[in-house]
Amino acid sequence: MTIDWQQTINDILAKKLSCPRCSTLTDDVLVGYLRTPEAAAWAPLCEGCTKRENCDARKFVLLCEACASAVRLRGRRVDEHGFMHALMEECRRNLEETLDYLSDYWREDLDIDPDEVDKKLDEVDPELFEEENNWRRYLEEQYLKIHQWLRERQIPIASPGWRSEYVEDMVALGYATLLGD
Ligand SMILES: [Zn+2]
Ligand SMILES: [Zn+2]
Repeated sequence: MTIDWQQTINDILAKKLSCPRCSTLTDDVLVGYLRTPEAAAWAPLCEGCTKRENCDARKFVLLCEACASAVRLRGRRVDEHGFMHALMEECRRNLEETLDYLSDYWREDLDIDPDEVDKKLDEVDPELFEEENNWRRYLEEQYLKIHQWLRERQIPIASPGWRSEYVEDMVALGYATLLGD
């Protein structure tokens, strides 16, 4: 089972958050991190994650209070606005990770010939690049949705300069981004 992001958004639009584990509608949820594979179903961003079934990454999840205590999630309580802010922060964190990966960390994953050391990931390993790029595109699309949601409600966005800095860094690496102008 994967979380239906569109349904989540619709529920939030209806001023309710729904728990992805038990489907209860609630005014506030707990957000936090879990590593168990089953938690992928409660992690909004894992919808775009390539590992899906056996994702062992640290996952940002939301759960109602009863489910949180059932699976021992030590979370922070947020309402719908707080949830959208937390989700945006999580998108940013993941996008910064892909930025680091595309700029340098991928070299640690691959055995690189000395004469390829100045090349970019897409030149050295197009398949790995595409996987990373699909994940990044997914995150950028979510970012835009969240941004639009906050903007429509005239809710101020924390550290608004983050976006232009991200775009500059990504463009400097030679990659296009949906967050650019
Ligand atoms: Zn629940
Ligand atoms: Zn995942």
